[in-house]
Amino acid sequence: MARTTSPSLDLRELPLKSGERTERVVAIEPYPIFLGGQRYQVVPQGEGADVVIERLSGGYLVTVVMEASVFGACYRCLRELEQQVEARQQEFVPSNPEKWDEDDISPFVDDLMVDLVGLTREAVILALPEKLLCREDCLGICPQCGKDLNLEECHCHIEQLDPRWEKLRELGLGGGEELGVSEADGEDVPGGEE
Ligand SMILES: [Zn+2]
Ligand SMILES: [Zn+2]
Repeated sequence: MARTTSPSLDLRELPLKSGERTERVVAIEPYPIFLGGQRYQVVPQGEGADVVIERLSGGYLVTVVMEASVFGACYRCLRELEQQVEARQQEFVPSNPEKWDEDDISPFVDDLMVDLVGLTREAVILALPEKLLCREDCLGICPQCGKDLNLEECHCHIEQLDPRWEKLRELGLGGGEELGVSEADGEDVPGGEE
């Protein structure tokens, strides 16, 4: 399989007839991305991205597949995490782009040049969730005391559940049952009696 370190692919250089295909591996350097306002480092696995180019009538079908590890902080608790991702993106590149509406052509294609780095970067972002978590049920950090709630419980967040209690405390009334603000403590609430 041909190997290249060139970040872009010139389809005119490929002597492909209609129906033929060729494959190559493109080395991709580690690079940062931003998700949910946080910076993550993408480290491609293996030799880089696998690129398959198929000649069709009227153009080329370019498929990019890349496995990568993504490193950064959990969106909720800020602990370091590593997420595996298999990114995959496919683009059709018309031979006669002037006959096409510009909006229908991939932003990673300019004439018959394909920006493979941009394409794999986009593929990785699309393959990831919007916010990366160390685990699906990560409890995060208490916004009041800053404790990592995965490691220890704190009690401030319980008092934060119902802001109406806070209001009552300000008024010096305490409690709340008499005022009918505790409907959430009814018997049908599992674990309500603690
Ligand atoms: Zn977490
Ligand atoms: Zn707390």
